Amino acid sequence: MAAKYIFVTGGVTSSLGKGIICASLGRLLVARGLRVTIQKLDPYINVDPGTMNPYEHGEVYVTDDGAETDLDLGHYERFLGIRTSQQNNVTTGRVYFDVISKERQGTYLGKTVQVIPHITDEIKSHVVKLGESEKYDVVIVEIGGTVGDIESLPYIEAMRQLRYDVGRSNTLSIHLTLVPYLAAAGELKTKPTQHSVKTLSESGLSPDLLVCRSEYQLDEGIRRKIAQFCNVDIEDVIASLDAESIYEVPLLMQNEGLDARVIQKLNLPSKNADLEKWKEFIEKIKNPSYETNIALVGKYVEHHDAYKSIVEALIHGGAMNDARVNIRWVQSDYLTEKNVAKMLKGVSGILVAPGFGDRGIDGKLSAVKFARENNIPFFGICLGMQCAVVEFARNCAGMPEANSTEFDEDTPYPVIDLMPDQREIQDKGGTMRLGTYDCKLIENSASWNAYDQELIEERHRHRFELNNKLREKLVGNGLDIAGINPEKDLVEIVEIQSHPWFVGVQFHPELKSTVNDPHPLFAAFVEAALQNEKENLKQISHQKQPA
Ligand code: GLN
Repeated sequence: MAAKYIFVTGGVTSSLGKGIICASLGRLLVARGLRVTIQKLDPYINVDPGTMNPYEHGEVYVTDDGAETDLDLGHYERFLGIRTSQQNNVTTGRVYFDVISKERQGTYLGKTVQVIPHITDEIKSHVVKLGESEKYDVVIVEIGGTVGDIESLPYIEAMRQLRYDVGRSNTLSIHLTLVPYLAAAGELKTKPTQHSVKTLSESGLSPDLLVCRSEYQLDEGIRRKIAQFCNVDIEDVIASLDAESIYEVPLLMQNEGLDARVIQKLNLPSKNADLEKWKEFIEKIKNPSYETNIALVGKYVEHHDAYKSIVEALIHGGAMNDARVNIRWVQSDYLTEKNVAKMLKGVSGILVAPGFGDRGIDGKLSAVKFARENNIPFFGICLGMQCAVVEFARNCAGMPEANSTEFDEDTPYPVIDLMPDQREIQDKGGTMRLGTYDCKLIENSASWNAYDQELIEERHRHRFELNNKLREKLVGNGLDIAGINPEKDLVEIVEIQSHPWFVGVQFHPELKSTVNDPHPLFAAFVEAALQNEKENLKQISHQKQPA
């Protein structure tokens, strides 16, 4: 069967949750036995989001093959249980970069290079590459931005053309819009949706299905009105109401018949959706028996999207333990040795987040020390792991001015240092140690116990690493090495095994946690946090006793 394509555009305003709608539809189609992938087309001119500030863009999601991508790819992986790659995220920057490179190589044989056909052809080639890989029955294409934006136009035009290239019956256009409630009028308003569909149709891509975000249920009258004005059947007006958790959206969409309509319109083979495991997961996150407070210490905490995958992995790890994880967002800039006990009072676990640059480092070091000295479960990720090594060096291994050379090039004890193959690199984009690398676990470590296997693969995004020249001195003073990259002998995991649970990882485990396959380290960390507060465990009503 040739792949079918579903184009998803958004209208009226940004932040309607297009990524979650795509991921939810994807989940429903996977549950019906189809092979699905999702591709994100981003209209910005950066070649990838890797060079963007987290305040600007949120988390940079890294795929197995080392692509720095949009955080929506994280939702796709978590919801669908699939692996994405560079192929799943295309930006205007990348498209132009490739077209201009080809122009320089003479590929266009003297032609004038133009948006149509050269840019649109390049966009289409990225989309059909996934469709023609024969790996998928359905390719969902999420078009970033909002209909009407100048920079989205080439994408809409490319999709318009693609409908003819691959046959109209093989494509579907879904438009996500907003139906706002006007308190003064006491009514839901359909006009913004009408305008948005009109704008989209002017570009030649009329929607087959409308997903309408709304705070209130759409009654029959409203649905009829939208259907009439927007040229769709009433069954093709799908309401998407606010959900308590993003993980409920697939079920809400199923109730509204989104997947059934898609199956019917695309004439896809399908069995009944198997969502039993998904429903069990939702039950666990909605009605957990326990709860625990975990501090997330980082410098971008005002912007939760900067830590998207960590937040989701904590939810997954919580569900594994029948527990709700309450995150206390702790701004590392404000954390000091003096106030750390107060700021972290009552938390049962401390997670020090990834990051770049020296802002907030002292606060992170105070958090590590507090966790280490007070036997509070500690999880350090990437920069968080590097902070754990610096703190240990300074306070437990007789290296008082130890530091990472990222923050002090002249430190007498560079316990964290630039990786040798990073030294000559000048360019910032796509040049870190990126993507999946092997890690061999050391027997009987906390990590070994969590993974329950010897060889693991995890994703990376960093330039610095534990300095092997100072490794012996650290180990001699009680730092445990729990994971090594066998190929280059790099330290990937440090632990303190005399502590209840103290684990620092150079990689990003949060990127691989999914609903159906929660990450073992997050599950173990939440378990350790629950264990830590066992005596004064706050039981939610009707609860069983902890084991
Ligand atoms: N800044 C550190 C490095 O480049 C850590 C990176 C991270 O936390 N992702 O090694």
